[in-house]
Amino acid sequence: MDDKLKILADLMFPDVTKTILDYEKMYPERDLKEGAIVSRFAPSPTGFVHMGSLLSAFEDNKVAKDTNGVFILRIEDTDQKRSVENGIVGILNDLKNFDIIPDEGMIDENNSVGNYGPYIQSERKEIYHTFAKSLVLRGLAYPCFCTSSELDETREIQELNKERIGYYGSFAKCRNIPVDEAINRIKNGEEFVVRLKSPGDFNKKIILHDLVRGDIEFPENDLDIVLIKSTDKLPTYHFAHLVDDHLMRVTHVMRGEEWIASFPIHDQLFSIFNFKKPNYAHLGLVMKIDESGTRRKLSKRKDPEASVEYYHQEGIPKEAVKLYLMTVANSNFEEWLDNNPSDDFSDFKFDFKKVSASGSLFDVLKLLNISKNYFGRQKASTIYDNLLVWTSEFDKEFHDLLVKYKDYSIKVFNIEREVEKPRKDYTSYKSIRNFVFYMYDELFKNPTYDTPKITDKKEIETILNTYYDEYLELNDKDLWFSKIKEMCDKLGYASNIKDYKKNPTNYKGNVSDVTGLIRVSLTSKMNTPDLFYIMELLGKDKIKERFTKYINTIK
Ligand code: GLU
Repeated sequence: MDDKLKILADLMFPDVTKTILDYEKMYPERDLKEGAIVSRFAPSPTGFVHMGSLLSAFEDNKVAKDTNGVFILRIEDTDQKRSVENGIVGILNDLKNFDIIPDEGMIDENNSVGNYGPYIQSERKEIYHTFAKSLVLRGLAYPCFCTSSELDETREIQELNKERIGYYGSFAKCRNIPVDEAINRIKNGEEFVVRLKSPGDFNKKIILHDLVRGDIEFPENDLDIVLIKSTDKLPTYHFAHLVDDHLMRVTHVMRGEEWIASFPIHDQLFSIFNFKKPNYAHLGLVMKIDESGTRRKLSKRKDPEASVEYYHQEGIPKEAVKLYLMTVANSNFEEWLDNNPSDDFSDFKFDFKKVSASGSLFDVLKLLNISKNYFGRQKASTIYDNLLVWTSEFDKEFHDLLVKYKDYSIKVFNIEREVEKPRKDYTSYKSIRNFVFYMYDELFKNPTYDTPKITDKKEIETILNTYYDEYLELNDKDLWFSKIKEMCDKLGYASNIKDYKKNPTNYKGNVSDVTGLIRVSLTSKMNTPDLFYIMELLGKDKIKERFTKYINTIK
């Protein structure tokens, strides 16, 4: 070993006591079965997850689960500006809300599970330093003393001469500083970053075999990129990616497409250390079509649906969001779902080839449609239980009614549910109140009535009173309807729509005008589920009250 390099390396990293080999032993190859994928989600501790990163965490989790692999949550806090208090717990909660539970990694602000930790980068300093020191000893890394104004100057010259921007070749001023000089400058207390002495040749080509995008060709990296920063001595993303993904024995790096351009750096770092290279899948952005029909990136600032909190607040069931995420993740999932309509998609296997490279389109209407189908499959009692939880946080008034009228509420949710074609109108827990409010007097104090076909006050009074006094029947649905028809015949409305269509002038209207009136008077709505079941649940007394209330409101 070169003695001078040893002196330099010791000066640069005085605290390093271990070797790379020590770490290789501490974090051995994982004993997993063939094909098992080790994936990781690696956010900064910003306290929340937005939709784009939720999608990638979802995919990371799915591939690991599909293959009996391992899904790691690693916190990348080397950019301390992006850290917020309780930032890890916030992320964990967002993930947990969608059943994304890492197998290894941080479990709260300070604790983790797994044998490949620490899982937070600021606690891995000694490891990064060990790896960086080994490069200095091999003459493949060096201290760079350039100030930011010197770097700006180089950039200006490159711009002026239309040269490639960056710290490389003859622009890499500190690359060839004699080791003695470097030693002296460090001893004199000069600040430095640690740079890679890139062995790459920009004229040579390398290939990224991206699992989503196929093969992409790049020039080799020749930039002397920063490995360790000067102020906090923490690594850059590039160096941390090498060290962490190697030692955590990650097999698949699924990350945002913004990292594609850095691939040559990463490829070179893995080559220099002779480490097994991970597979890469660069995921596209999450896009939306906005009101003007333009396809654009889902924006944290402009689009409420970009925040995962939105789904929680709206009460969109996590099962529906998960199904939706899967449709966004893999283009063949929707077809699979049509053939396997359930909430459990563990039999569906994630396929990198079915990921859209051009970005995933996020469509809230489609999500709501999936949600409708989800609600269509649920039992009334399940809806009740989940709604109780949602309202306890977001709708106290409704929550209290649900508690007070538990059995009644379950019956309300069961209207047209246990039938061959169950109702599919609820889109979210939040939406339910609007579909059932009329079943609770407390929520029916000042309804805004839709306008039925029949509007004459006298006629309305006659119909509702006659119906209540002579024809009300709540025991049997067929009988109920035949009674209504009987009344129609008596009052001059066609009980048979065909007859009405043949000779409309012979009648005041038809049976649907009459049921429409009854419906509006009871519920304020022209459209509701089956009126018989509504009436059966409301019961005689309430029906009378509602009729009177309605008659009193019309002029
Ligand atoms: N912390 C990086 C980011 O949030 C992680 C990228 C990666 O997954 O490698 O972009």
